[in-house]
This record gives sequence, structure tokens and C-alpha cells, in this order.
Amino acid sequence: MTTLIMKFGGTSVGNADAIGQVADIVLGYTRKVDRLVVVVSAMSGVTDALIRGALAAASGDEQAYRAIVNDLRAGHYRAVKALLDPGGEQAPLLTTVDNYLDEFSAFCHSVHILGEVTPRAMDAITSLGERISARILAALLRQRGVHSQALDATELIITDNTFQNAAPLTDVTRTRVSARLNPLLDEGVIPVVTGFIGATEQGVTTTLGRGGSDYSAAILGDCLDADEVWIWTDVDGVMTADPRLVPDARVIPVLSYSEVGELAYFGAKVLHPKTILPIIERNIPLWVKNTFNPSYPGTRITREPEAANGQVKAVTAIQGLSMVTVEGRGMIGVPGIAARTFAAVASQGASVLMISQASSEQSICFVIPTKTAAPVIRAIEEEMALELVRRDIDRVWALDDVVIVTAVGSGMRGTPGIAACIFGALGRANINVIAIAQGSSECSISVVVAANDAVNAVRQLHKEVIANG
Ligand code: ASP
Ligand code: MG
Repeated sequence: MTTLIMKFGGTSVGNADAIGQVADIVLGYTRKVDRLVVVVSAMSGVTDALIRGALAAASGDEQAYRAIVNDLRAGHYRAVKALLDPGGEQAPLLTTVDNYLDEFSAFCHSVHILGEVTPRAMDAITSLGERISARILAALLRQRGVHSQALDATELIITDNTFQNAAPLTDVTRTRVSARLNPLLDEGVIPVVTGFIGATEQGVTTTLGRGGSDYSAAILGDCLDADEVWIWTDVDGVMTADPRLVPDARVIPVLSYSEVGELAYFGAKVLHPKTILPIIERNIPLWVKNTFNPSYPGTRITREPEAANGQVKAVTAIQGLSMVTVEGRGMIGVPGIAARTFAAVASQGASVLMISQASSEQSICFVIPTKTAAPVIRAIEEEMALELVRRDIDRVWALDDVVIVTAVGSGMRGTPGIAACIFGALGRANINVIAIAQGSSECSISVVVAANDAVNAVRQLHKEVIANG
């Protein structure tokens, strides 16, 4: 018996034509797969619009949020009218759209009165996009003759109460998912589950973070012990580089979980970075496929694909970063400096993308998003006030406008010479490397370069290390 989870992203349900295409794909697999669970994102642009509406309401701009409500109504109406028969479910679906958008409008009204939008309110508001899209797709599938039912993941994915970035509680989620979905699947129903959202044990709506629908699909895949999880998107698969930067970027046929983890972490917006967590243990293969080119195989992601020796598979860049340096001769051999530095960083909720320390111990440097740099520096200066007075630490400073460029490929492991190729390529392009890091997993090498060298660095590495590699 095969169980498949298929997740369709925002562009895959972005308009009536795309939703029709999704229905074709799902229908095509109903005969081939015993148990099929569909997960959907909101129509593209909808989550952004909901957030904009909530922020406008909080800032007192009633006109702006009302305009957004109207736009969202028009967009969803257009899709429903184009897809659903007037004699069938069109009218009830239009009412469904109205009800959710009335809810949005009421939320915005409250936010407007309160003058602020809490993370909890933001989750209630942003959950509406998926609630609507799931209902539209399920209705269309019913119209095409399959048993289908829309389900809110608030019934299935139970999370902690970290609003906007909630973490699933594995055991309760597993129990809920099998209790709720198995009877439907046994009856041959195709559930269409809202991506992105969940609820606390008390039933309060949460979300898994932007782009979280991939993660939703993987969580369901794990709980149902699925054979595979397919992520349908608008590109042919995971690419060797961002095609907007590198025109001859191509699709990577096979990747390992750790490679795709590095890629997601280092800015390639292919998958939500947590997607692989639930499926890694059961070794459930993950596919990335193109809704608009469904016969193309796409990228397969599994535990350990045949590692091609020395192969670098992809190069990515992550922008908008600052490199913070804590330096001073008095740091040499003093235990606890690193621990206290990073405790201060953590106190500001900043996430550290890369760390490097030279063995002379005269400085520690790390890379964080630029918007967190000022508070982080202040926190470190406070923590190290005494050391700064004593001049054990000379200064704490940030270099802004840097980019981390990362080359990813588990074939680097144990293959000598890869680093030389990378630095050779950068050197020939006259690109100054500011800092370097390689984890002991040897799955990626990262370099920090100035923002205005970034595109050139990515192109150069793609040309010399991937295309000719
Ligand atoms: N709709 C949500 C977002 O735009 C979740 C997703 O698309 O995966 O972030
Ligand atoms: Mg996405």
C-alpha cells in the first residue's frame, strides 16, 4: 500500500489555471496511489497581503486594510468563479471566501482599535489564506468526481505556543493525525490539508513560520509513515545556483538530506529549512517537482545518494548580513569568552549563520543578519564591560554589507583539493575573501565576501567548480 503526501506551493495554486493544473495532477495519481494526502499553501501573494493588512490596521490605516480585504475578495472570487460550476459548489464557496475575509476584516478592526498586532493575532490572521485555498481545491476535486475534504491542520498539527515559528509536539500530533486522517484515507477520501498552520493543545492557531507548508507536508509524511513526500513548486527542482544570478544553472537530480539542509540554511529558497527534520529518521524520500512541467522528474532527496567524489553540487549566497568581530590580545587563553559572547548574542534573539575563530585567539568573528547587529554589539559590550575597561578586549565592531557564499556537496568530504579550487576561482576573479568556515561535516564551505562581490563570486564558483567540475 502506498501513501503519498503532495504539497502544492503558493504559485501552484496562484490562480484558476494553476489550481486546475493541480487538480489534473492529483486526479492523475488517484489511481496510482492508495492513500494520497494533499497539502496546500495560500494562493501566492495572499499571506503577504494578510500581513500587510494587519500591519496597516495596527498603524491606524483603516483605508489600507479595507482595500486589502477587497483585493483578496476579488482574487479569490475570480478563482472560484472560473473553477466551480454555478450549478454546483460555486455559491457555497463564495460564501466560504466571504466568511473568512469577514473574519480577516474583524481581526483588522480589533487590531486597529488596539493599535498593535501580537504574534498570536498575526498567526490567526495569516492562517486564513490556507484555510481558503484548501477549501477551493477540495471543492474542485469533488467537482471532478473524487471524494475530497478540506481539513484545517489546527486539528492535526499540535504545536507549542511560539507564535509565528511554532514547533510541533510530535506525540500528540502523531496521535491526532492518525486518528483523523486514517479513517478518511481508508474510505478513499483525498484530504486537502492547510499547510503552514497548526494549533496549541488549547486550540489556539499557530503557524510554523513563513514558507512552512513544506514542513507541514513532511510532518504529515512522518506521522502517516508515508512512502514519499512530494513538494510541487514552480521550478523543475533544486538548482545548482539561483538561475536569476547564473543563467546556466541546472537542476540537481539527487541530493542528500544534509546537502539540502545546507542549501536551505544558506539562502536557497527551495524548501523550508526544517522540512527534512521529520522525515530524516524514517528515511522518507522527498521530491521537488514542477507543477507546470509535471513529467519532468525533478530532484530526489534521500539519505545518502551515491556521493560523487569531490563533487560540489550547488552554490548559494545569503545577503543582508554583518560580520561582528570581538578582538583583543587579552582574550588569549582566557576561558569563557566565546561562551559569554554567544550568550550575549542569544539574549538578543539573533541567529548566527557562521562563526570563525583563528587559533591565535585574538578575535572571534561571526555573521548575523544586519538588522540584529546593533543590539548584539550593545549586548556584548555590556557583557564585556570589565574586559573593555581593562583593555583585554579592544573593541567589538561590525562590518556591514557582507554576503556568505556557500558551496555545498557531501562529495567534498575527504576529497582533497576542493578548497583549493574554490579559492583559486575566487582569486582569479579578484574577489577578496573576508572570512572562511567549513564545518567538520565537510558538506559545505562558506566564505564571507563584500556584498558587491557576491554575484561575481557565485557566477565564478558555478563556472569553475560546478559546470566544469
Ligand atoms: N503561505 C505561507 C507563506 O507564504 C506558507 C507557505 O507558502 O509555505 O509563508
Ligand atoms: Mg515555499
